[in-house]
Amino acid sequence: MPNTDCLFCKIVADDIPAIRVAEDERTLAFMDINPWTRGHALVIPKTHATDLYTIDPDDLSACALTAQRLAERARDNLGAQGVNLLNSCGSAAWQTVFHFHLHVIPRYLGDPLTVPITAQPGDIAEITAAAQELRA
Ligand code: 5GP
Ligand code: ZN
Repeated sequence: MPNTDCLFCKIVADDIPAIRVAEDERTLAFMDINPWTRGHALVIPKTHATDLYTIDPDDLSACALTAQRLAERARDNLGAQGVNLLNSCGSAAWQTVFHFHLHVIPRYLGDPLTVPITAQPGDIAEITAAAQELRA
């Protein structure tokens, strides 16, 4: 069911405009209005789901396939030298629009994006403890 308060459901319904780049039975892809790099697009399921926890597995698969198709087009049509896929699940993970989406971010050598953290070697005991909790 569409969520009447949801921005991306309104885009699916064509109630608000978006620059569409791909569409199939389950998914829609359109340009992000605040692009991190040239060609930055968003892939969403047409059926509303808040986030990674709640999206239908077949919709998730379909979104991944659409993202792969867009990544190929970014490489072949835009000359991207790489692509980042990003999903933010929850406010703590930077999610701001609560309709599942995959960011497809074409990357170009020398583009201004940087990783927002300096990686440091971790404590092996703590890594192992976290792994144990993840396996449970
Ligand atoms: P999030 O922060 O949830 O991972 O990503 C939401 C994305 O949606 C942001 O990158 C933001 O620029 C984009 N966005 C927000 N409002 C609109 C809109 O009205 N149209 C389009 N095309 N993108 C939007
Ligand atoms: Zn929605």
